[in-house]
Amino acid sequence: MEQMVDKLMNIRARVKNAGNAELIAVSKFRSKDEIATAISCGHRLFGENKVQEALAKWPEIKAAYPDIILHLIGPLQTNKIKDAFKIFDVIETVDRKSLADGILKEMQKSGKQPDCYIQVNTGAEPQKAGILPEDADSFIKYCIEIGLPIKGLMCIPPADQDPKPHFKMLKNIADRHNLKILSMGMSSDFEVAITCGATHVRVGTDIFGARV
Ligand SMILES: *Cc1c(COP(=O)(O)O)cnc(C)c1O
Repeated sequence: MEQMVDKLMNIRARVKNAGNAELIAVSKFRSKDEIATAISCGHRLFGENKVQEALAKWPEIKAAYPDIILHLIGPLQTNKIKDAFKIFDVIETVDRKSLADGILKEMQKSGKQPDCYIQVNTGAEPQKAGILPEDADSFIKYCIEIGLPIKGLMCIPPADQDPKPHFKMLKNIADRHNLKILSMGMSSDFEVAITCGATHVRVGTDIFGARV
């Protein structure tokens, strides 16, 4: 645990050095104890990629620390929207009309308003979630028109490529729509992402160690 504290402090320093971005500690597969250690260091911003896992780990922690903000950074199935609303403050992975419509409906039903980001599949990878780059402009317009609180964009560049062109593409799309938030960059490339305009970086491994 002590080692984790050092790692978190080190990443915070590196993020600060690279510019001006928020650090989302990605706690997927991590125990409540590991999360508690990060919280004891004053950390309040976290990301999880699965609704069920988040519901199993976070309700008590969030009740104890109301200032915690939890981002959903993994794909969301429409039949999990209701559960996602129970625990997440931000949904980063809006990527198709059926999901946008479902989120809008749940907002009207629940009275909750989680901030939404749109995930763009910048590498057009068939196995990856996200709206395709060529469809991004019309999809962003659609989401804004129906009334979703779209605050920004998110991407996960292809693992085997230079991430920089992908980060730049995401920044360009965001600029066209006057969207201010850019969630991009992970352990291996968050500093590059910040130089490309990331406002939020999502770091797991470099804080908590390798996932086993
Ligand atoms: C797991 C995950 C991360 C963190 O990745 P690391 O390489 O462990 O820093 C970031 N973003 C998403 C969407 C993830 O699923």
